[in-house]
Amino acid sequence: MKILVATEKPFAKVAVEGIRQIIESAGHELVTLESYTDKAQLLAAVADVHALIIRSDLIDAEVMTAAPQLKIIVRAGAGYDNVDLATATARNIVVMNTPGQNSNAVAELVFGMLIFNARHHFNGKSGSELKGKTLGIVAYGQVGRNVTRIAKGMEMEVHAYDFFDLAERMKADGVTKEDSIKAIFEKCDIVSLHLPATADTKQSINRALVGLMKPKAVLINTARKEIINETELLALLLTERPDLTYLTDIRPDLHNEYAEALGERYFATPKKMGAQTAEANINAGLAAARQICSFFADGCTKFQVN
Ligand code: NAD
Repeated sequence: MKILVATEKPFAKVAVEGIRQIIESAGHELVTLESYTDKAQLLAAVADVHALIIRSDLIDAEVMTAAPQLKIIVRAGAGYDNVDLATATARNIVVMNTPGQNSNAVAELVFGMLIFNARHHFNGKSGSELKGKTLGIVAYGQVGRNVTRIAKGMEMEVHAYDFFDLAERMKADGVTKEDSIKAIFEKCDIVSLHLPATADTKQSINRALVGLMKPKAVLINTARKEIINETELLALLLTERPDLTYLTDIRPDLHNEYAEALGERYFATPKKMGAQTAEANINAGLAAARQICSFFADGCTKFQVN
């Protein structure tokens, strides 16, 4: 089989070497299209491939139509909202992600940003500590659990909400289970968002919800931009709630307005940094290669998302 790594933002070199080793030892051929600048390059590269490994690359109906032999797409990472799942399903293409491979990286960034904020961007002013604070986790998946593990080490009190009943998992992790997202916003000093972007969650973090937060609370988003109602959040932070802070790893479309109006009460990483570690990069790339080999060897669809 011919397998293409198509990455507008390339993997680390060592990750590509590892992917090649896995693919070639299973008897397949690996080709790469890295740092491409034009969709036409991607359309040409997929013409004769059977499998595709991508990162945040946009795989829409046009790309799938240009790839008549494509059987499987693996998104090396957690979120797969960059792949048109309906079209993939209609064309019998299996889509997978590589869950858990970058969740520690994202969780560590959460604490990097929280400490940066609590210590006033290291500007010399006296700050505050995370120990003893109540941390609310919205969506208790791979990242949420890793955030909990670190928070426990910092002696924070952790509450979590997920729309699945994850009572046992939360109990085992020493987490207080909340039955609504509202309860998290009402009870916690810091609310950390780990929702996927879905029809249900898009724009769901809105004025009504954030308005419930405790005085001087902090909202941190390392999930997806789309889950925030940016206009409502900015209006709330500017008017009724001048005490709240918003930290995000996904720059809002209204970044300039947020930055200008909110000063130190707002921080956005210059680009999405959550999964940007050497370790996460390698883990996700190698997992994608292994998943493709198992799919072709024995039809394994363990991490299929469509
Ligand atoms: P995951 O699939 O392991 O967990 C997602 C959780 O969300 C699941 O437990 C699911 O039950 C829950 N959920 C889904 N819809 C919900 C809803 N409407 N209400 C409540 N809970 C809901 O995913 P993950 O690996 O933990 O990733 C979490 C988020 O972080 C995703 O949005 C992902 O795209 C994002 N992410 C960002 C970066 C980054 O670079 N900043 C890197 C990795 C992941």
